[in-house]
Amino acid sequence: MRFEFSAGGVVFRKSDSGIEVLLCQHSYHHGWGFPKGLIGDKIEGEGKEETAIREVEEETGAIGKIIAALEPVTYWYKFNEEKVKKTVYFYVMEYIEGDITKHDFEMENVSWIEKDKVLEKLTYKSDKEVFGSALSVIMKFANS
Ligand code: ATP
Repeated sequence: MRFEFSAGGVVFRKSDSGIEVLLCQHSYHHGWGFPKGLIGDKIEGEGKEETAIREVEEETGAIGKIIAALEPVTYWYKFNEEKVKKTVYFYVMEYIEGDITKHDFEMENVSWIEKDKVLEKLTYKSDKEVFGSALSVIMKFANS
């Protein structure tokens, strides 16, 4: 068994039709979720927040500003018969700028999804829980 630690973002923006959230579809497992990546994998000593901002930009083309940290979530998966326990630190981020057509190969789709359609689009239970917590932060921020 081994442990992995990743960081990522729930990025939102206000549009004419309301609040939209940035979702992406993974090129390998094809699940829809939030952008994230391993901490300390690419840059030694990089912190959770820096990893989250960098991974969001690499995987979606969007630059986000952190508004709040969410409670870390965990899930298990198997890689070559080895069990992996993964902990992910997600941050709620306000979209600042960037072109979502400029995402890397890790994602086969990157889209802005209306907040009311996010839950049905997300593939994994833990991401649905993350979105529940993120949405209350987003709505408070958007109404302030
Ligand atoms: P990272 O994005 O952290 O760099 P990765 O892209 O290599 O990691 P994951 O997205 O964690 O990998 O996917 C690894 C495995 O875990 C895949 O088999 C995937 O289907 C599964 N998986 C991904 N997210 C979840 C989740 N939230 N809950 C359960 N299983 C998941």
